[in-house]
Amino acid sequence: MASNASESAVPAIAHPTPGDSFGVAANIVYHSQFSSRFSPFKFEVEQAFYATAASVKDALVQRWNETYKHFHEEDPKQVYYLSMEFLQGRALTNAIGNLGLSDAYAAALTKLGHDLENVREQEKDAALGNGGLGRLASCFLDSMATLDLPAWGYGLRYKYGLFKQIISSKGQEEYAEDWLEKSSPWEIVRHDVTYPVRFFGEVQVDSDGRRKWIGGEVMQALAYDIPIPGYNTKNTISLRIWEARVPAEDFDLYAFNAGKHEEAVQLQLKADQICSVLYPGDSTEDGKLLRLKQQYMLCSASLQDIFSRFKERRGAISWDEFPNKVAVQLNDTHPTLAIPELMRILMDDEGLGWDQAWNITSSTIAYTNHTVLPEALEKWSQVVMAKLLPRHMEIIAEIDKRFQVLVARTRPELESKLEALQVLDNSNPEKKLVRMAHLCVVSAHSVNGVAELHSEILKKELFSDFYSLWPEKFNNKTNGVTPRRWLRFCSPELSAIITKWLRTDKWVTNLDLLSGLREFAENKQLQEEWNAAKLANKVRFADYLLKVVGVEVNPQTLFDIQIKRIHEYKRQLLNILSVIYRYKTIKEMSPEERANTVPRTVMFGGKAFATYAQAKRIVKLVTDVGAVVNNDPNVSPHLKVVFIPNYNVTVAELAIPASELSQHISTAGMEASGTSNMKFALNGSLIIGTLDGANIEIREEIGEDNFFLFGARADDVPRLRKEREQGKFVPDPRFEEVKDFIRSKAFGDFDYEPLLEALEGDTGYGRGDYFLVGQDFPGYLDAQDKVDETYKNRAKWMKMSILSTAGSGKFSSDRTISQYANEIWQVGQCRVP
Ligand SMILES: *Cc1c(COP(=O)(O)O)cnc(C)c1O
Repeated sequence: MASNASESAVPAIAHPTPGDSFGVAANIVYHSQFSSRFSPFKFEVEQAFYATAASVKDALVQRWNETYKHFHEEDPKQVYYLSMEFLQGRALTNAIGNLGLSDAYAAALTKLGHDLENVREQEKDAALGNGGLGRLASCFLDSMATLDLPAWGYGLRYKYGLFKQIISSKGQEEYAEDWLEKSSPWEIVRHDVTYPVRFFGEVQVDSDGRRKWIGGEVMQALAYDIPIPGYNTKNTISLRIWEARVPAEDFDLYAFNAGKHEEAVQLQLKADQICSVLYPGDSTEDGKLLRLKQQYMLCSASLQDIFSRFKERRGAISWDEFPNKVAVQLNDTHPTLAIPELMRILMDDEGLGWDQAWNITSSTIAYTNHTVLPEALEKWSQVVMAKLLPRHMEIIAEIDKRFQVLVARTRPELESKLEALQVLDNSNPEKKLVRMAHLCVVSAHSVNGVAELHSEILKKELFSDFYSLWPEKFNNKTNGVTPRRWLRFCSPELSAIITKWLRTDKWVTNLDLLSGLREFAENKQLQEEWNAAKLANKVRFADYLLKVVGVEVNPQTLFDIQIKRIHEYKRQLLNILSVIYRYKTIKEMSPEERANTVPRTVMFGGKAFATYAQAKRIVKLVTDVGAVVNNDPNVSPHLKVVFIPNYNVTVAELAIPASELSQHISTAGMEASGTSNMKFALNGSLIIGTLDGANIEIREEIGEDNFFLFGARADDVPRLRKEREQGKFVPDPRFEEVKDFIRSKAFGDFDYEPLLEALEGDTGYGRGDYFLVGQDFPGYLDAQDKVDETYKNRAKWMKMSILSTAGSGKFSSDRTISQYANEIWQVGQCRVP
């Protein structure tokens, strides 16, 4: 290894020669000396990463400039994707892969005494998201860039992303994850792009009745751009994230010099809080206020940016043209304030009347619903809203009033339900609320769910009356994942085999071509190659587990993985209870019987929200079971249980290609779509799952013979819950056995009683097995038996695995985004020549 990049006999060259490894190496050397955050006399692997990333960024910035210049000249309709979360993960592999420069960079680093594998591991995940919703936003950016759509992503630049999870003897512990500690090599700070953002204050009324929001606290939003390259195209779009700050002129130097140091920096402290963490605890009034500030910061800064671009591109402004140039997609209700903010700008700043502003707003804004869980449907206190955003509260009240008038006029039969439908929830005079989802449904021109079942539930249940008012607004856009990150780059071995058998790599941008693998599903040669690629991925993941968790797992065992946020509805508890049953069964077997079982490694990963006590107990149970099972010499050759700490995009990229069986076992009707089910199926991992979310469509696509199905159906869930409450449910004896086993302290003396109690139907505790774990337990065990049976037949398993990949074409986010573009946004391609 060269200890100093200039010793490598490669000159420093500021501009890269695309595609040529010598030019790339020279550019890396240049950056190690001139844009380094480290001493230029060192070139350790960390410096190599930053120099490499800086070099890649040069190529991205060049394309990015060309892209937006082209958009500016063409002036097409643009789409703006507003999201509180973007779960980007690492960027290096994806960027050089999309640029087609992976080989050049690998060769260049070798010349400089480094190895691309090691270099890319230096990168920290950008974890500006929580789970599926944030990862979806990131997959969408990749697809929008790849499909040459004129698009922007808008988000917030949290200093600490989601917390870092550490597993100790106490279970999960949370620590701040400082992804910006050594700064991110990908961001470009845009000191030319700043906007004022106001909080608090009051509404002033002119003599002519015009209203204006004045006073309060004014902060500044500063833009940072992260370039997002498309695959096989020059188009490179932007994820623009806002940082809250206070301009120097607002710093109270007089107060500071007068010794009032804390008073002088108050505003800066408040600004820092806004962009400190994603989803700050909101159990307190201050916590709620902070979240609302975050949401408004995102909406206000993004809309000001959109207006400034709209105006910059035309001389005389015709406001009716606005919806022909601008589409805004709200990723769940978190950016709902974009609705009253757009109304406010159009009326108060631009002088439009209500009706014109309303038409523009509703034809511009579209809303995606991501959940039907009642506790996740946002409601904000009217008191807090009126204090922080007085003018917006007025506008929301007016929207609500006009909605009531509309219903009274057009649908008098709905009047009895009106209270439940209103945007304002005044049912408790002590605690009046704004229903953000209702504000979206009333205001937006499009409301979509994220899988067919979920969109049906929106129409028939959650929003049924709105659906009867405006059937044309409702539509479905089944989620997807980007095939670049989730197959091409995370499993190069499997990708090479696919390309070889399909005789083309066009599947990377046309995922339906994977169906061409079906005809080879029983081909011995392909099956052998497939098996070898999966095994290589398993070995790689086993190495990771040994390094990170310190557990040795055997790559010859069945790799069974459940990775996703820990939540009762996702039912990690169902999984671990069945593992306990398996443990008990194996323990009671004779050595001969044991030798006949299919050895498994069951892996769990996921973060529990810091204040979600039941979820944290589940994490603790998994780790306690692992400690007992893995140390039982009779059982551990046949069963191991591993909790993979700190689940994030990078962990997913390692785990998914290594998985043979994956678990998507939510209570039917509760998982809107799921997207990891798509990533797993794409990587040839078989699914054990319920008829929920996108599982249903995956099963349709890959064939029901290739899916291990069990469990209650969504339609039956309400009835089953009721019967459970009425004590009519008779639990399977194996279910009782497992609970008793835990109560016998077989896994230590941690107090699991709250978890076990919640599984009882009639104790009055909690919601009485609301998630139907007891109901689905026997069916789940049967499905697991079927898994074991099938795994013994290697040829059959390989065939099913190949058919899973072959049937995954529909689940490309390219397909999803094309549908959004054509059916909701009316945005077309705008490709840089
Ligand atoms: C895909 C993904 C998710 C979503 O997983 P689900 O199982 O669909 O909930 C969450 N987190 C990460 C890091 C992911 O990559």
